[in-house]
Amino acid sequence: MTLSRRTAIIVTLIGLVCAPNYPAAAVAPKEEKLDAYVEWRKGDLLIIDGQRVAWQSKARFNGAGAAKDFASVPLGYEVVAKGTRQPDGVILATEFQVKPNGMQAFENDVKNATGEMEAKWVKAGHVVEQDKDGKEADMGTLHTSGPDVDRVRRIITRLIPPYLKASDFRVYVVENKDWNAFACANGMIVVYDSLLHATNDDEMAIVLGHELTHATHEHSRKNYSSSMKVGILGAIAGAALAGKSGKAADLAALGGALTLSAVQNGYGREKEDQADRVGLRYAFEGGFDVRQGPKLWNRFAEKYGSQDAVSNFFFGDHSRAEVRARNLTREIALNYSTAR
Ligand SMILES: [Zn+2]
Repeated sequence: MTLSRRTAIIVTLIGLVCAPNYPAAAVAPKEEKLDAYVEWRKGDLLIIDGQRVAWQSKARFNGAGAAKDFASVPLGYEVVAKGTRQPDGVILATEFQVKPNGMQAFENDVKNATGEMEAKWVKAGHVVEQDKDGKEADMGTLHTSGPDVDRVRRIITRLIPPYLKASDFRVYVVENKDWNAFACANGMIVVYDSLLHATNDDEMAIVLGHELTHATHEHSRKNYSSSMKVGILGAIAGAALAGKSGKAADLAALGGALTLSAVQNGYGREKEDQADRVGLRYAFEGGFDVRQGPKLWNRFAEKYGSQDAVSNFFFGDHSRAEVRARNLTREIALNYSTAR
């Protein structure tokens, strides 16, 4: 089957990911760096970047806010840490810097722009995509309720880490024949019905966990290139001149452009890797069977192929689905096969 460019673009978002090349658990420990959030506390371990992190007295601790030491770090705090991987897969901290997750530059602008886009889609009852010439394309009917929406909401509710609220996320299902799903910085989660109908809840949880990570780990905001920042400032400045209605229109277009950019290009390999690691953790903590992850990527490979024309946009410059499946198998062995 030859895929159209548009079809290709649509599958890109969930296709870009591959897992990192972690060393096998048995090799000598090598220092690893984590740049993420504290999402669970399990006994003497913290879950950060989907990984289990343990403290040792020799480690350096640099805290802010309510984080006085490793034992008192609140969930949801931002962390930059270093540590060495132990044979059981746990990372033993050597350096630990933690602070409250504050509002960063442009975070509000990103959320507002995406919010305007969401409002426009809901009002239209359709997902509308705009190309660079301003020409609009209808990507499918948008559902805000019904059995499909309820199913996605049930899964999402189980995936959300404990420091966030389910009510902060809004779920939509779009009628579209492609396999796609995406989550935006403002809490909007969109799933295409074809993917929903082709997957069981465990598979859907792994896809949604990945997408949810892009939102919880602020990948849109972190990914802004300086040109995008200029675009945001331009839109805001233009909005001020155009008045309130102009602002809404500009921001909605900007939100659409940013979302489309993520759909076309992904968030970059590092962030896509993180979405795979953390998303698998969300699925695991939600009680889903993460061992179905590798099989899921093989199914994507079967549907869309894994080489030639498809590899350019479906996988970008990232690993093919079968490699991704193998990487997920390694992640499962590292983090979900030991008792600790
Ligand atoms: Zn992704």
